[in-house]
Amino acid sequence: MQSSLSISLQQCSKTFADGTRALEPISLDIHAGETLVLLGPSGCGKTTTLRMIAGQEQPDQGGKVMFDGVDVTALPIEKRNVGMVFQSYALFPNMTVAENIGYGLKIRKMPSAESKARVAEMLAMMQIERLADRRITQLSGGQCQRVALARAIAVRPRALLLDEPLTALDAKLRDSLRLEIDGLLRQLKITSVYVTHDQTEAMALGDRIVVMEHGRIAQIGTPREIYQKPANTFVADFIGIMNRLNGKIRDGIFSCNAGQLAWQQPDTAAHSILFRPEDIKIAEAHENTSLRGTVNTAVFMGDRTRILVDVGEPQPLVIDSHSRYDFKAGDMVGLHIDTRGIIVL
Ligand code: ATP
Repeated sequence: MQSSLSISLQQCSKTFADGTRALEPISLDIHAGETLVLLGPSGCGKTTTLRMIAGQEQPDQGGKVMFDGVDVTALPIEKRNVGMVFQSYALFPNMTVAENIGYGLKIRKMPSAESKARVAEMLAMMQIERLADRRITQLSGGQCQRVALARAIAVRPRALLLDEPLTALDAKLRDSLRLEIDGLLRQLKITSVYVTHDQTEAMALGDRIVVMEHGRIAQIGTPREIYQKPANTFVADFIGIMNRLNGKIRDGIFSCNAGQLAWQQPDTAAHSILFRPEDIKIAEAHENTSLRGTVNTAVFMGDRTRILVDVGEPQPLVIDSHSRYDFKAGDMVGLHIDTRGIIVL
């Protein structure tokens, strides 16, 4: 593998010919060897950003794409030496698995013995040796994606760009292939940019995550930073379920419709507190709590019961309970909030 590449986008914006503004000017430094995830809802500009790095899309006038400090903005895709993996696999259906994997090597006129050895290495790395002579049409979705990864890596690209590679797969396969991709990227230590709208995938794979909203960067940080210290309510909501209580903080007490909460942090002018489902618990029947609510809905999910509790706010609180008690709509419940998990925005 070639040494890892650092990638820098400088003031890259994009307005398409039909006038669609896909990206506001964004600047972004992708460190050598890291996996950077571009995360955000449909249409926020993730794919456009990825295509700019690949050389499939030009930034508007003034924007620059740099590879290891060298301006590659005008360099076409075939000269950038980046590997790409797509949701749709984009494999050649009439070629065998081995031919697909070796395609890029053939284009680069690699001698046949060397190319054969490289293909064998890739087949082994992706654990698909027994599929070498199959045609693409005879493969499952997961197998197709393994071939697509092998093909992208075979040419020893300077960076790997992945656009929703797991989205077309069913949930179970997605989880196992995600773990494999994580292992692979760490083993190769290759600079990777990974586009997804799935926050779980982003958390699991990213060294850092870029959360995007309407063509802008809403926040850049490690998964932990983004989860625990979201920069705004968009990020907080997008990255997981957020509970919200509106109220007042005075003299060490937060008061809201559901009751009161001891406030150990300094008083703030903020009127709402946010916290995740894992930071709130339903109290045992005998416990005294100063926060109370009424069960609206309880959905048994196997490993837990997801309970929506009305507390006199526009939205019910979302609580995950591991209790064996069978909560029913209308039950009055006491609530405990772990104040360490509270986010004040
Ligand atoms: P998704 O997850 O749905 O793929 P995305 O975050 O990757 O979304 P982009 O594909 O980057 O978003 O698109 C950003 C915006 O630019 C969208 O409004 C999209 O419709 C628009 N867009 C993308 N390509 C073109 C194009 N060639 N011409 C016009 N508009 C485009």
